[in-house]
Amino acid sequence: MVSGMPIYEFRCRACGSRFEELVPVDGRADRCPECGAEAPERVFSPHAPAFHVARTPHAMRKQERKNAKLRDWTKARFKEARGRGREPRARASGASGSAGGDG
Ligand SMILES: [Zn+2]
Repeated sequence: MVSGMPIYEFRCRACGSRFEELVPVDGRADRCPECGAEAPERVFSPHAPAFHVARTPHAMRKQERKNAKLRDWTKARFKEARGRGREPRARASGASGSAGGDG
């Protein structure tokens, strides 16, 4: 049974340093012990990787458009390849004049 205040992990938005602080359940650490910046960010999953993927709706739409373009391009290529395959073969003319020993 935990008595008193639980410990939470925080990360400073200014310097990025992580620290733990005893705060009330709904509380916040007031400042970073490293640089003194206010309102550090609470870290909910301590085991999460340090980097985090910033996926904005704009970026996602951009990616979607890129994918569509690529799909169209692939389709076009495929069509072209098929069309080329159907092309009639140029017949090799077997009329190679064999020169007689006339001369
Ligand atoms: Zn800091």
